[in-house]
Amino acid sequence: MLFDLHVHTEGMGLLELKKLRESGVTGICSLSFYPIKPLFPQTLIDEFRRLEEFEKLRCSMVEIEMFPAVGIHPRCIPPDYETVLEHLEANDWVAFGEIGLETGSEIEQDVLRKQLKIAITKDIPCVIHTPGGNKRKITEKTLEILKELEFPNELAVIDHTSFENLDLISKSGFWVGLTVQRGKLNSGEAVKIVREIGEDRCIVNSDAGFGHTMLDTVAETARILGKEAKKVCYENPRKFLGV
Ligand SMILES: [Zn+2]
Repeated sequence: MLFDLHVHTEGMGLLELKKLRESGVTGICSLSFYPIKPLFPQTLIDEFRRLEEFEKLRCSMVEIEMFPAVGIHPRCIPPDYETVLEHLEANDWVAFGEIGLETGSEIEQDVLRKQLKIAITKDIPCVIHTPGGNKRKITEKTLEILKELEFPNELAVIDHTSFENLDLISKSGFWVGLTVQRGKLNSGEAVKIVREIGEDRCIVNSDAGFGHTMLDTVAETARILGKEAKKVCYENPRKFLGV
């Protein structure tokens, strides 16, 4: 039994979800992302409904238990985003994600801060993105915001860890998200990091969906990890989500 904490099922067909299930993944967290910049805040609110209703149903058709994560991705900030924040504040959620900084602009920082504040008051775990470009600097800024808000360690996973920001994330005390995907870590590198920093705070995921084609990277990493896989590829993500 494996759990993939970072998947975008909206970018996957049913046959791909079936393939993911066949690789051994029985549970996933499907994260909110809208592939074009929304023109209206309501676009995201409907996208959250799609995750919670339709995507959950499609996953159950292939016997995958899906937990939806909602929130404003830094590349999907709509005009009047306060409307989305009010919606997030007024309802109950399993998790927020993915949220975070992409370029680190003022508006991105405002959106992130406000979502993190809601997460603190409502005790919601957050999957936090780090970008491909300018990774170290943006990771530093992200950690600075988390520190400034005294964000609880157990409530955030800092995702897409690479060798460029590993030291920052591993000493931060937050969960360490290891995305095994083309253009990110390969399975051997993820295993190396788990062995180096210990299995207690590491979570392996695939980020499969919209931009990525490798579906079974959690399974592949679990095979190399051996007995540590139980924690890193199943127990830790569930513990983080509280499910
Ligand atoms: Zn993602």
